[in-house]
Amino acid sequence: MLKLLSHLQRRRIARELHQFHIPFSLWQQVRATPLISRFDRSEQHRLRLLASRLLDEKVIVGAGMMLTPFQKAYIATEACIPILNLPDDLDWYDNWKQLTVRPTPWRMPAGGVETGPLTEQREVTLAGVTSLQWPVVIDWQSAQPHRLGHHARQVIIHELAHKIDLQVDDAANGFPPLHEDMDAKAWYEAFKSAFDDLNRCTRRPRCRPRINPYAATNPGEFFAVTSEYFFAAPRTLNTAYPAVYEQLKQFYRQDPLRRF
Ligand SMILES: [Zn+2]
Repeated sequence: MLKLLSHLQRRRIARELHQFHIPFSLWQQVRATPLISRFDRSEQHRLRLLASRLLDEKVIVGAGMMLTPFQKAYIATEACIPILNLPDDLDWYDNWKQLTVRPTPWRMPAGGVETGPLTEQREVTLAGVTSLQWPVVIDWQSAQPHRLGHHARQVIIHELAHKIDLQVDDAANGFPPLHEDMDAKAWYEAFKSAFDDLNRCTRRPRCRPRINPYAATNPGEFFAVTSEYFFAAPRTLNTAYPAVYEQLKQFYRQDPLRRF
């Protein structure tokens, strides 16, 4: 029986490998990057499969740059981190088809999408943009693999958290569709209390915000920024806002603290 199972397992793995769009040599580079290397081998295997399916279903294209196979594979893999353990995984991304990658952050007139705390300026610098209908746009300079630290800077996760948030009511309001076993009141209270705390801090001259103050822009940005921290700087988030960490743990069905 053991022999039969291992034979079946080998056949399944061979079949999956046959479908991979991310060949092993390329995957070795992707899994060695700081964030992906935190996942255990089983998670990495599922990430590679999911990222391959994402590359099959979505268009990842450069604007003003030619993407290398590594860049495409890396972006697809990081894009799959939030949905790794969600039921129906890629269905959470059925509200976008294309992810456009620009070489560097870009400037656009304030008042457009996601101008954040800088709306009083005439122009703002953006590392990523997500809206209801248009492709997701990120810049490679911000998105490329980088050393993990106390603060999270993960533009791919940030923009795709907005897309997850937009699933339920076409509004990025920090209230994604929760699982049946989750308590909406507990979610609301955890996020409201943390959002208010951060806003109070940003208004006080001597207060140092415990997470990126851009999260104080609105509840949608708070969800996207705390999602970045959840996956890439979970200790910072859990120390600053443990109730938010707990809610995100229930929502994403992952516990990144055990990886750090
Ligand atoms: Zn945002």
